[in-house]
Amino acid sequence: MAEEKLSFQAEVSKLLDIVVHSLYSNKEIFLRELVSNASDACDRLRYAALTQPELTAGGGEYRITITPDKAARTLTIADNGIGMNRGDLVDNLGTIARSGTAQFLTQLSGDAKKDVSLIGQFGVGFYSAFMIADRVVLTSRKAGEDQGWRWSSDGLGEFAVAEEAVAERGTRIELHLRSGEDEFLESHRIRHIIKTYSDHIALPVVLVADDKEETVNSASALWTRQKSEITADQYKEFYHHVAHAFDDPWLTIHYKAEGAIEYTGLLFVPSQKPFDIFHPDRKQHLKLYVKRVFITDDCAELLPSYLRFLRGVVDSQDLPLNLSREMLQHNPLLAKIKTGLVKRLLGELKKKAEDADGDYLGFWNTFGAVLKEGLYEDFDRREELLDLCRFRTTASDQPISLATYVERMKEGQGAVYYITGDDIDMLKKSPLLEGYVAKGVEVLLLTDPIDEFWPNAVTAFKEKPLRSVAQGASELSAVSAPEETSEARPEPAAGDQMDALIAAFKLALGDQVKDVRNSERLTTSAVCLVADDGDVSMHLERLLRQHQPGGKRPPRILEVNPRHPLIRRLAADAVGDGAADRLADPAHLLLDQARIVEGEALPDAAGFARRLSEVLERAV
Ligand code: ADP
Repeated sequence: MAEEKLSFQAEVSKLLDIVVHSLYSNKEIFLRELVSNASDACDRLRYAALTQPELTAGGGEYRITITPDKAARTLTIADNGIGMNRGDLVDNLGTIARSGTAQFLTQLSGDAKKDVSLIGQFGVGFYSAFMIADRVVLTSRKAGEDQGWRWSSDGLGEFAVAEEAVAERGTRIELHLRSGEDEFLESHRIRHIIKTYSDHIALPVVLVADDKEETVNSASALWTRQKSEITADQYKEFYHHVAHAFDDPWLTIHYKAEGAIEYTGLLFVPSQKPFDIFHPDRKQHLKLYVKRVFITDDCAELLPSYLRFLRGVVDSQDLPLNLSREMLQHNPLLAKIKTGLVKRLLGELKKKAEDADGDYLGFWNTFGAVLKEGLYEDFDRREELLDLCRFRTTASDQPISLATYVERMKEGQGAVYYITGDDIDMLKKSPLLEGYVAKGVEVLLLTDPIDEFWPNAVTAFKEKPLRSVAQGASELSAVSAPEETSEARPEPAAGDQMDALIAAFKLALGDQVKDVRNSERLTTSAVCLVADDGDVSMHLERLLRQHQPGGKRPPRILEVNPRHPLIRRLAADAVGDGAADRLADPAHLLLDQARIVEGEALPDAAGFARRLSEVLERAV
């Protein structure tokens, strides 16, 4: 069959362009990527052969060979793993199947330096070959199939696929080096790169040069070795391999569980946020092995979703080897491993949180929003998780624990107060906080979408209820004000005047508001909007509307500050004749003003503009 030419998916072309044209400082990592893929391919065949032994006909001794050819200026990496047929080649090496890729690529700026570091987080895998090769020829025969295939490309928008007689099962990648890249043909250089990045690969990586074969790596699964024999760099490189990541692990946990259930865990918490951590199709990434045989890297039962940032390997002694993916569901042994993993990880996080030098806040800022999902998903661990949470507050830009918050609570303060919104700086300016700040009551500033949900599930911390300052009546009267501020506070408008004002506002605003009432919580602003107890918060309503536009808006409560000079003047006017007419425009303007401050869109922006112009006109 003649050679077929195909175009790379646009995303791949874009990626290749960056890989080739940016001066990637660390080109040698191409070898790590290809060896890592080769090792995965052997792992996958080993798993498939558990149920279909005929797949490994022709030898089950897995190995990876690296063959430099100085005369031809090629470097060849070969494995006898699962191999690829035509469909696999086109799918795997012409497109990027990972969820969130397109979205990720839109973040690229065109500034080579920034893009390289972003791509670093994303991982370029196979395509990194084009950093050092201007032509890549790959031949492969899939285990269990007779027909072999050739894939070739110069990395410039197209690749070609053709049938090819391939004697050996597996994949062979021939790199035609760019000029100036001959260092990658030198045995000592190859040896060094393999030692540095791929020593942990569990199968032999064999250098074939000068008619000699030499196994370069240790060829034993890293997690089975003694901790004392593993260096920090080896752990790091293993992390790069299992996580397909380029950052350094923030935390490495290596342990052997013994007793009722036996397994080894080599777990990593990344230091950078994986790009797809909030993507709806994201997977769990912990790899499950049984007696050193790779089973799956997509086992939802292994880890709760709120720990999905965890990377690494779990190798069980007790699970049966002939475990099908279906059997993984509802497996009681797996459930025990899961419990063990959660306990271990939360325990280690607690240690880091208590260690002042542990950079716990670095972790929290990266993954706190994910961990907080556990507050409503994992009832049994709620207390433990609450202890791990950190929050910015009106009194502290450094996130603090709830224990610290409770220690600092004011005399008479009965609850832990919080406010939710999109943005810290906007929240800090919210009028809803005025009364709390004036009385020295600290308020948690919550800006993750998840923050709209967990406080309702948690309801209390150490018997102190959690209360939103945007909801219900304020309970500030029980907290005494510091003396100097109580003196400086202006007098409120007289009670009968306020009653008249509130009645006039209610009349003017009708069903646009649920209620109008005196405010306890305002000091400098004239008005604010709050949600009634039991109503959806305004911030949550906005979040929901992003997903489902046009939803009905429940009316809110307008609170009026009786000490504000404007309100006092309006209140004095409210007892006079014809007040209802005069107060209609101010009522609408003040409601719209409260909406703007809250970040709400105005339902009638034209009406707002007309009233404002009229009032200004009368004023000048
Ligand atoms: P990643 O490894 O992150 O998935 P790559 O671009 O490195 O991304 O590889 C894409 C896919 O190509 C792999 O997921 C795998 O399915 C396939 N692949 C790459 N190298 C090999 C190989 N040596 N043998 C079999 N399949 C391979």
